[in-house]
Amino acid sequence: MTVGAVLVAGGSGQRAGGDVPKQLRPLLGRAVFGWSLAALMGHPRIGPVVLVVPAGSRAAYDVAADPALRVVEGGKSRSQSVRRGLAALALDPDDLVLIHDAARPGLQAADIDALLEALQTWDAAAPGLAVSDALKRCTGGTMQSVPRESLFRVQTPQAFRFGQITAALSGAEAGLVDDLAAVEHLGARVHLTEGRARLSKLTYAGDFETMTRLLRPHPMLPRVGTGYDVHAFEAGDHVTLCGCRIPHTAGLAGHSDADVAWHALTDAIFGALALGDLGDHFPPSDPRWKGADSAVFLTEALRLIDARGYRLESCDLTLICEAPKVKPHRAAMIARTADVTGLPADRISVKATTTEGLGFTGRREGIAAQAIAMLSPHPPMQD
Ligand code: MG
Repeated sequence: MTVGAVLVAGGSGQRAGGDVPKQLRPLLGRAVFGWSLAALMGHPRIGPVVLVVPAGSRAAYDVAADPALRVVEGGKSRSQSVRRGLAALALDPDDLVLIHDAARPGLQAADIDALLEALQTWDAAAPGLAVSDALKRCTGGTMQSVPRESLFRVQTPQAFRFGQITAALSGAEAGLVDDLAAVEHLGARVHLTEGRARLSKLTYAGDFETMTRLLRPHPMLPRVGTGYDVHAFEAGDHVTLCGCRIPHTAGLAGHSDADVAWHALTDAIFGALALGDLGDHFPPSDPRWKGADSAVFLTEALRLIDARGYRLESCDLTLICEAPKVKPHRAAMIARTADVTGLPADRISVKATTTEGLGFTGRREGIAAQAIAMLSPHPPMQD
């Protein structure tokens, strides 16, 4: 017996906000529809899968070529789209089919197992969650309590015998609340498996944050990293610290603009993300970085923070040198760092110290800088 699946990626997702339909928006580094597609394609019992996409939008759905997967365009209504998906599957009447909404990315193999087991006994099955809130019916200014016993919120995937759902939908009227409703009309015996919060539908903008928390494989904790850098003085008339040109009787030697402060900060971020160091990302041997503005390095580190689901919360920089005097430039250095990082100025600390004449900084041979960066978990940008 074959088990097939129809994944319906319909709808424009207006309520979820943004310009991109919600099923295409990124969620923890993968498009929303890709989560359930991977769960269906990866399940050992499921053979053919049909992804139904809105008419004219096939190019937006980046899926790897796979003989088990077909992508078809849907119709004007959801039930029309489901019918097209079923037609593309073309299974035998006794085969089984799961119909799932792409806007429910939390599907896992255990959900599929429970549905297929239920179909050994029942005509159809779907995950259901008992209603736990009090229910009220509000009409024209009056409010009436509705008993919640025996009420369930029904999710997807919904599982059917192919022949029954195909027949039920071919004669179905428009406006069915879901696919189960079509077979209920035929007197099908339906079983509810255990519903899950992660099978909820992404509807509103805030749902993405909730779903990100539910689908994140491990709890994410704040992370900190430290950075340290040294550049030697050479002939010149200024140094660059935190993107600010500071007049001095010497310059700093380096392949890029030798901004020792931002190098330390960038390294602190790479450290917090456990992504190696500045030299791994921007090798000094690469001619592209000759004379580079170190804002480029810092900006790339910030992009990686966002891509990993974090955000920069604060940073603390210490410059170690006898000269130039840092204090007169501190406000400008903080302001420039705020520009590049997007942090408010009161979360950026720039300090300076000397080594009391000791060591290489005491001998005025160069400048050392150290930095700490703190990151906190944050849902990825949704647009
Ligand atoms: Mg450096």
